[in-house]
Amino acid sequence: MAARTPSYPPAATGGALEVDLAVVGAGVAGLYTALCARRANARVALVSRSPLSASASYWAQGGIAAALAADDSPELHARDTLAAGRGAARESAVRVLCGEAAECVLDLEGLGVRFDADGRGALSLGLEGGHSRRRVAHADGSATGRRITRCLSALAATDQGVEMVEEATAVALRTHEGRCVGLVASLAGEASVRPAVVEVRAPGVVLSTGGAAALWERTTNPPGAVGAGLNLAAAAGAALADLELVQFHPTALACGGGRDGFLLTEALRGEGAVLVNEAGERFVDELAPRDEVAIAIEAELRARPQARVRLDMRSIDPTRFPNVAAALGESGLDPRHEPVPVAPAAHYTMGGVATDLEGRSTVPGLFAVGECACTGLHGANRLASNSLAECLVFGRRAAAAALSEPPPTAAAPADRDFAAALEPPPAATRRALWRHAGLERTEVGLQVLARDSYPLARAIASTALARAESRGAHRRTDRPRADPVLDGKHFIVRPGQPPAPEPWD
Ligand SMILES: Cc1cc2nc3c(=O)[nH]c(=O)nc-3n(C[C@H](O)[C@H](O)[C@H](O)COP(=O)(O)OP(=O)(O)OC[C@H]3O[C@@H](n4cnc5c(N)ncnc54)[C@H](O)[C@@H]3O)c2cc1C
Repeated sequence: MAARTPSYPPAATGGALEVDLAVVGAGVAGLYTALCARRANARVALVSRSPLSASASYWAQGGIAAALAADDSPELHARDTLAAGRGAARESAVRVLCGEAAECVLDLEGLGVRFDADGRGALSLGLEGGHSRRRVAHADGSATGRRITRCLSALAATDQGVEMVEEATAVALRTHEGRCVGLVASLAGEASVRPAVVEVRAPGVVLSTGGAAALWERTTNPPGAVGAGLNLAAAAGAALADLELVQFHPTALACGGGRDGFLLTEALRGEGAVLVNEAGERFVDELAPRDEVAIAIEAELRARPQARVRLDMRSIDPTRFPNVAAALGESGLDPRHEPVPVAPAAHYTMGGVATDLEGRSTVPGLFAVGECACTGLHGANRLASNSLAECLVFGRRAAAAALSEPPPTAAAPADRDFAAALEPPPAATRRALWRHAGLERTEVGLQVLARDSYPLARAIASTALARAESRGAHRRTDRPRADPVLDGKHFIVRPGQPPAPEPWD
């Protein structure tokens, strides 16, 4: 991504980088937020820990959902999103997403992202589970995320108004009289070449650090997706929400080794790939909602020791899914000749830093967008391809809102740094999350997890215990039905307090 020599920290500001907006994380949410802020001529610092290829955005396969087709409308998109959310999606957030997603996709095109087109040059829109219309824009087949992140990062890297602070991990948020006024990032690399830390001062700080699904032992996510933004925000006093709501993808590669957990996109099943059990028999409607397919696979796997479920995609032309074919090839699997082993894996965290519809957290000056945020949009189950749309729609809104924050006072003695514990989860915690907060949960198992050594795992356990019902992706075998009292409720975790259900309008 690097195109310019970073200039931090400027001596003139006493070692701190002073900008109009600080953005943490360079996935689609962070990159687009930064570029939107540049349109208002703001100076932006983009603090990013890992290379592009290590973000979930880069790994995204399917595409972006938006009501772009002639037979579609924001109303229909909203209806599908609300249905997927199982009575827990925040309707106002759904209306914002569905009303603004199309504009954002067209904006990406204007920025240079080339989406796949049909023979007449119109956007070719895919159909995915839960969508009543063709509305998923994709690029380069199943390499949508790669195309978008490459394009946006090239724009950010060559924009003189964006200070790229790369290989930098935000480790603390800085506040002044309760307002977030910046952050501290630790820098990788030779101490002789760059300082060990950089301070960034800005009236608004946007967290776009991605989700937390890599906390679970089996995951489709990059290893860094362990909720860094949640820890940073919580340490500074911000509320988190919906931590118990986690989507499990049914078909992740189950082959051990480096490619274990690689996502085998739903589009394969849409094109005719079928799931077969140990006996070679089909056992589920492959196009049923994700949670149902995942549970059916899990039941087959538990039926017998060493049981396997395989995805038979021999009827599909692998050249249409080049990144899938490449990943399988790396694992020594040839999908043209043999069905490939699959199993569910943690895929998407619906919860995150609690925000309003402009990305504001409960700490003034601190914002969150993308997968690390929780606007309540997804409710208890994310509709496929709504998350990239969310990164764009709410990134644009957060950029505008953050730029209206009052300027910070000059560095003052009353400034406080709230450092977050950002150690990766131990293997035992990841196993415990998979076992006790996986596809099926019980009160007894969650109580075990509530005593885990890792704070975020304990917070997940306590919200999963508090949501004493089954709803969408949250399945409590001891509470198999949805509790109407919890319709429209989000479990909010404020520092030092137990989770509390709140209605959001
Ligand atoms: C395999 C896969 C396929 C998917 N397919 C689709 C799809 O087709 N359509 C769809 O809508 N969604 C899809 N998703 C979900 C979607 O990709 C993500 O929800 C979305 O990309 C999240 O974007 P983000 O910008 O919020 O976070 P990310 O893209 O994860 O970026 C987070 C960034 O924050 C950085 N970071 C983290 N912590 C720190 C820190 N402390 N300091 C500095 N930087 C930090 C990371 O290095 C990274 O650059 C998929 C996800 C996966 C894993």
